[in-house]
Amino acid sequence: MAWSFPIGVVRGTVLRVHVTFLLFLLWIGGAHYAQGGWDAALEGIVFIVLLFACVLLHEFGHVAAASRYGVRTPDITLLPIGGVARLESIPEQPAQELVIALAGPAVNVAIAAALYLIVGFPAAGIEVQNAGVGMLERLAAVNLFLALFNLIPAFPMDGGRVLRALLAYRMGYARGTQAAATVGQAVAFGLGLLGLFGNPILLFIALFVYLGAASEAHAVQMRAVSRGMLVADAMITRFETLDPTAHVADAADCLIRTTQREFPVVDGGGTLRGVLTRDDMIRALRDTGPETPVIDVMRREIPLVGERQCLEDALSLLRDGTLPAIGVVNAAGRLVGVVTPENIGEMMMIQTARPNPSTDGPWRRGTTP
Ligand SMILES: [Zn+2]
Repeated sequence: MAWSFPIGVVRGTVLRVHVTFLLFLLWIGGAHYAQGGWDAALEGIVFIVLLFACVLLHEFGHVAAASRYGVRTPDITLLPIGGVARLESIPEQPAQELVIALAGPAVNVAIAAALYLIVGFPAAGIEVQNAGVGMLERLAAVNLFLALFNLIPAFPMDGGRVLRALLAYRMGYARGTQAAATVGQAVAFGLGLLGLFGNPILLFIALFVYLGAASEAHAVQMRAVSRGMLVADAMITRFETLDPTAHVADAADCLIRTTQREFPVVDGGGTLRGVLTRDDMIRALRDTGPETPVIDVMRREIPLVGERQCLEDALSLLRDGTLPAIGVVNAAGRLVGVVTPENIGEMMMIQTARPNPSTDGPWRRGTTP
């Protein structure tokens, strides 16, 4: 996810923190300081660390449920409204998605129940902002809030996935996602209205929910279109390559002559050695000059896929948005094409503009009737 950075690895799952989560922490710390000085700020920070742990446990609830179905989780990103566990693949069985989506909020309910067993159940409603209420009690209340909030039926919340899974039983995955995304955007609109006339934080959440719904619908549409296609169907086959002995000045010539922005560096045997991006090229021109060997500034960790592999394999590699391109090789290992995020975007435009886009059919393939 863009605007996030890694903070650690747990059992092969990379923990990432989104910038907005840190802003949220700063905001909480600042608000406490303004209310009661450093003591309050310290208490606020301890509370936040505990809250942070609860959000992580929530995400590991998803991870544990997913691993039951053999689905790995490459990373978890923490956001102000919770976290997002990025599953390697989305289970096609609605029942599995339902269990995975509910596992997170269930963890918060369990934490809240355990805390209430320790501190005793409250006689009346809890005022979360009141510093006089014990920290554990506040933590319990916040966990209940997290569980309820995450069950709002809108992507990217767990409730959106629950809704999609329930709809997918009846209308299939792609149409279920569309319907769930529409419900989610209506919810976002409602939250936005509430935000306008009440708590401005709701406006922020509404924007987030709106974007989440749109991006989930887009991702599912993309997967639906790419199903049944091979890498060879979508790859770029006409492109300029650079020799490993080339200099950045040669690459700059190529940049002017072509519309390409990513240049594969290919040796005499047809093996991809790396990819030089336009940005890296410009940076090298500025920092080390036109005589810099391209091999020194190219991106080396470019994954390869076979031309007969499913397009979905290439899409899942491009999903986190950090790769400039993927190399496509034939059976002999020679580079025969490249796939870039831009050309995938073009393919999507073409596929969705066709009179009968196959947005539904392929998704019924793995699901039980
Ligand atoms: Zn969750």
